[in-house]
Amino acid sequence: MEQLIDPFHRPISYLRVSVTDRCDFRCVYCMSENMTFLPKKELLTLEELDRLCSAFVGMGVEKLRITGGEPLVRKDILTFFRSMSRHLDSGALKELTLTTNGSQLERFVKPLYEAGVRRVNVSADTLDDEKFARITRWGRLPQVMRGIDAAQAAGMRVKLNAVALKGFNEDELLSITEWCASRDIDLTWIEVMPMGDIGNEMRIDQYWKLSDLRARLAEHYTLTELSERTGGPARYVRLEESGQKIGFITPLTHNFCESCNRVRLTCTGELYMCLGQEDMADLRAPLRNHPDSDAPLEDAIRAAIGRKPKGHDFDYSRQSVDGRVSRHMSHTGG
Ligand code: SAM
Ligand code: SF4
Repeated sequence: MEQLIDPFHRPISYLRVSVTDRCDFRCVYCMSENMTFLPKKELLTLEELDRLCSAFVGMGVEKLRITGGEPLVRKDILTFFRSMSRHLDSGALKELTLTTNGSQLERFVKPLYEAGVRRVNVSADTLDDEKFARITRWGRLPQVMRGIDAAQAAGMRVKLNAVALKGFNEDELLSITEWCASRDIDLTWIEVMPMGDIGNEMRIDQYWKLSDLRARLAEHYTLTELSERTGGPARYVRLEESGQKIGFITPLTHNFCESCNRVRLTCTGELYMCLGQEDMADLRAPLRNHPDSDAPLEDAIRAAIGRKPKGHDFDYSRQSVDGRVSRHMSHTGG
């Protein structure tokens, strides 16, 4: 089948799938404490998710990242991973991976590895137990650490995703960097994005520019810019002293859209062509209305990719959050 190509000649080879909007943490920049979650009946079943993802794989998607919410709290999620592994076996899919808060990782590592998962992104913004409990509200760091240990012991490559938060983890810049080097864990810093309604003022207070973080890192290390691009917002440097690679995800200070190769599917079957725009396509209707034929679904996917916008409009520069989108990150999948 013909590869998905958007109007700006970008091939779409990467699908990120949010399999649930629920989570066992309540990170302050992601959710309010009293989040209302979608009624279960709104969610795509695992079989529907399978059909959808398989349609994308049939249209040239080579990388699938499972996210959420917290993907490992979705009931029977292993069934889905195991089922997706057939596309790894056939060679159509090059990578099956996930982004997780790590809380359930320890017990899932072995079956995930058996399903073909070789890399995992674990999110943690601090290495301090008390601060971790504060930022995630409900999370406990030792549990996450056991998950990281288990993943590495199983032979998975681990990447730590840390949200850069002013006044929160600024003081841990070097200790987190050193810890990752000592554990052979890749590290990526993420700028806070204006997603969902949790209070604008708070978000601007939290915003720690990665250019500042990077300058501080450069006071202690020799940074070499790497040309590596993954089609997403990350830019990488190598720290010459430790040899480690550090990523920076800076959607607010840099435009990363020209090489964008990805789209995002929510757990209700909405396809977002851009993380920073409201436009989406409903894929649940063609999926459910045509249980015996994928043709209408494939038409809907092609039509959606045909409207993928050139870029997003996030902007913090005027001290009010312009271009913000109303949905939470846990809905679209971070
Ligand atoms: N629950 C999983 C986790 O935390 O890794 C997967 C979903 S979470 C929404 C994915 C990533 O989005 C996490 O690394 C999280 O830190 C990040 N994130 C959530 N809200 C964000 C925001 N407002 N700005 C920037 N990153 C955010
Ligand atoms: Fe849950 Fe991940 Fe959002 Fe934290 S960032 S509340 S772990 S979905």
